[in-house]
Order: sequence, then C-alpha cells, then structure tokens
Amino acid sequence: MVRAIVGANWGDEGKGKITDMLAKESDIIIRFQGGSNAGHTIINNYGRFALHLLPSGVFYQHTTSVIGNGVALNIPYLVKEIKSIVDQGVPEPKILVSDRAQILMPYHILFDEYEEERLGGKSFGSTKSGIAPFYSDKYAKIGFQVSELFDEAALKEKVYRICEMKNVMLEHLYHKPLLNPEELYATMLEYRDMVKPYVCDVSKFLYEAIKAGKNILLEGQLGSLKDPDHGIYPMVTSSSTLAAYGAIGAGIPPYEIKRITTVVKAYSSAVGAGAFVSEIFGEEADELRKRGGDHGEFGATTGRPRRMGWFDAVATRYGCRIQGATEAALTVLDVLGYLDEIPVCVGYEIDGQVTKDFPTTVQLEKAKPVFEKLPGWKCDIRGIRNYEDLPENCRKYVEFIEKEIETPITMVSNGPGRDEIIYR
Ligand code: GDP
Repeated sequence: MVRAIVGANWGDEGKGKITDMLAKESDIIIRFQGGSNAGHTIINNYGRFALHLLPSGVFYQHTTSVIGNGVALNIPYLVKEIKSIVDQGVPEPKILVSDRAQILMPYHILFDEYEEERLGGKSFGSTKSGIAPFYSDKYAKIGFQVSELFDEAALKEKVYRICEMKNVMLEHLYHKPLLNPEELYATMLEYRDMVKPYVCDVSKFLYEAIKAGKNILLEGQLGSLKDPDHGIYPMVTSSSTLAAYGAIGAGIPPYEIKRITTVVKAYSSAVGAGAFVSEIFGEEADELRKRGGDHGEFGATTGRPRRMGWFDAVATRYGCRIQGATEAALTVLDVLGYLDEIPVCVGYEIDGQVTKDFPTTVQLEKAKPVFEKLPGWKCDIRGIRNYEDLPENCRKYVEFIEKEIETPITMVSNGPGRDEIIYR
C-alpha cells in the first residue's frame, strides 16, 4: 500500500514528525520532489535532527530510504547528511538513489545566489540551495542524470558544452568568475564515486515492492500553496509539492497511491515572499513564533524567522482539495494553549466581496482576512493521548477546522515527539 504524506499549507506543517512516526509500520520511505532547500525537524530517541535531503524514515533499521528521480540530488550534501546522522548514533541507514535522479550541480547554487543578488529587493527569498536553477536546467534538458556519471567520455563532452553556455551568463549577466570545465569534470567524477553505492533502478525496485505488498510512504516537501501550478505562483517552489507528483517523482502508477495524509498546521507560518492573507505582525506574531514548533518558528535550513499567521481555512481547504486528501493530521495544536481567543480566517474579502474559494495570485494580493474567533482552552494539552481527554474548547477548535477543511482529521499532534499523537 502506498501512502503519501504531504503538506496542505506553505510547508513546515510537521510532515517530518508524521513521517517518522508512520515509518515505524512502513518498509520504504521515498522523497519524490524538492531538494535540500527545506528541512524536516525530527525528535526521536536518537536526538533532534534537521533533515534536508534524506527521507524522515532513516531512523529505523527495517526501512529503506529512497531518493526518487523527482528530487534535486545534491550528492555531497547527501553524503554529509548520512554521515551526520550516523555520527549521532543512528545505525547506518539503507539508502537507494534513483539512477534517473538529476544532479544538483555546484553552479546551480551559484546561479541561485547570483540571481537573488541581481533581483535585490525583488528577490523570491530563495534558500539559495540551487533549486530553481536546477529545475530550470532539468526542463531545458541540460541537466545531468545520475546514470550519466558512468560514461566518462560522454560526460566530459557534456560538461564542456554546458560550461560554454553557463559562462556566457556568468560573464555578461552576473559579472562573476567563469566555470572551469576540467575542474567541473573532476568534481563530477568525485560525485560518481560518492553516489555509486546507492544507485538503483528505483522504479523497478518499487514495482517489485508494490507487488510484494510492502508498505510505502511518499514524503512530500513544502505544501500545496508552494506548488508551481496550484500554489501562489511565482512565489512557489520549482517542483510539484502535490501527492499526485509522487507517482512521477518515484516512478509508480498513480492509482497505487491509496491514502493521502495531508498535514495541516493548527496556525499558519510561511517562509519567503508572497501573499499571506492571515498573517499577523508585531508582538502578536513574535509570541506565536517564539512558542511555535519545538523551539520556535525559525527556518530549518536558513534559521530565518518564519512569517506567522492564524489558521487559514480558505487556503487549507483548497490545500487539502488539490492534494486529494483522504485524511488530515492536525499538528502543533499544543502551541495554541496560551490564547484566550483564537482567530481563524474563514473567508477572504476581495474588492468588497467575501469568498471562501482560494483565488489566483493576482486576486490573492488584494484579499483581506475575515476572522472568526474561537474560545481558547488555556492549558497545556501535551501528554494527552485520548481525544476525549482534550479540553472541550480544544475539541471544538479541532472540529471547527475539520468542518472548514472538509477532510476528516484522523490524527492530532500535540507535541514534537514521536509518541505525541492522538488518533481519532
Ligand atoms: P516539515 O517540513 O513539514 O516536516 O515541518 P518542520 O519540521 O519544518 O516544522 C515542524 C516543526 O514543528 C518542527 O520543529 C517539529 O519538531 C515541530 N512539531 C511537529 N509537530 C509538533 C506538535 O504537534 N507540537 C509541537 N509543539 N511541535 C511540533
């Protein structure tokens, strides 16, 4: 059975925690899109980890962790991340990398930096991990697949050809040092040796695994609203964040994805630029940011403070719908225990009209939030394991959100730890 774990919001919903938890009953966990640009924070018996490229299932000895073809593969980063968890006492994980995954090249990171620098105040707020230049090259058909590392003559010829193109941009648009093709080729050979132990025909491996009835998780990065097609374009990421893309980014049939567990955060947070209708500012935001997540809402990759907001039912219902959510996991509910009243954004006012439908970006820029206030529960709910034991106002909040998002909430997370979960 294949199950996807994806985000309904702008990312940072707590997918890592839910994946780590569900990985206990799974055989294979797959990353199918994105790269090392966003992080998942996981707290388990080995300690606290910020994973960027590895799937959140790497902490179990019975699981196989897969980097699918849809991922932007930063090879030295992968090796570094494996080493860092092993150094922290985690048993050597079993890892497979698709021979069709494309390689994030050193110049992708440079181009990401240079472009943000060139855009200045109009930048996208990129994490400068090279993701946008990587996917641009992939679809411009000038990227490198892992398999290409194993044909030296063809590789060298292509490296020279690509450098010629890249150097035009470096010289005339960015006014930066040029690439040296010999050096780049040598780096590629190092990459080949680093990745070699993990390379696999992933799609075939998964075909056999599905036939054998294995339990498979697809772990998404970021969330619905960062999807390049259905999100807040252009303030989006460069690969699809939707469960549907799991089929493509892993190489499995779409109809095999039976469950789509959409992770929904009990309040909103976002990184990077773009419209964020339920955003809050000043002290109100500082307080929520300080209390959020497992120790504050700061980017797992960049450490920068996240933008904060109240729960946005308009965006989240849409986020669940485009994911095709079969269920939702509501996370970080414990964080809201300090509030007397909790505002929830239930509508957008655009040009004097209130709508409950999530609009395109042009309209979104004009949207003002319509808030409804729910009573708070004013206590710490961590440690509670039965839904019925939650305070009444807390259950009302969950049930209000469930109705708004039109998706059954089957799990409520009330703490960052693996066991801090309430099943309904
Ligand atoms: P992801 O990218 O979706 O995996 O999310 P992140 O890891 O960036 O952000 C989620 C943050 O919230 C992490 O710091 C988690 O440890 C933390 N977290 C997850 N679930 C809960 C929860 O239920 N309560 C609290 N307090 N923190 C949580």
